[in-house]
Amino acid sequence: MNSHVWCHGTYCHKSRTQDRVRGSKGSKVLRTRKVKQDAWNEKTFYKYFCSNSCYNDFANANIERIRLLAPRNEALETPIDDPVKTKHTGGYTYADGTQHTWTTTDIKERVDNTTE
Ligand SMILES: [Zn+2]
Repeated sequence: MNSHVWCHGTYCHKSRTQDRVRGSKGSKVLRTRKVKQDAWNEKTFYKYFCSNSCYNDFANANIERIRLLAPRNEALETPIDDPVKTKHTGGYTYADGTQHTWTTTDIKERVDNTTE
């Protein structure tokens, strides 16, 4: 395996940063960055892209082809238990003497206890 790959960002070589400047005086270029192949990035898009911006540029330029990798024609659903709302009071008392209140909603994924 190569220790580096070239960043796949569509416009990586257009970004005007000093680390991309290469070549000798009079024939300078902005060059695509190298991306180090490392354990930390091996399962992420950072394996092929030097930055979030380069990844976004690539995704935007190729979005229809990316979509065709896994077309979504139906909504996905995750079974959940009935949400539980809890009203909380406290933390701040308003000028009229009432207390600040807020509501939280606990949403838990349903655990399937059926045996097969
Ligand atoms: Zn890049």
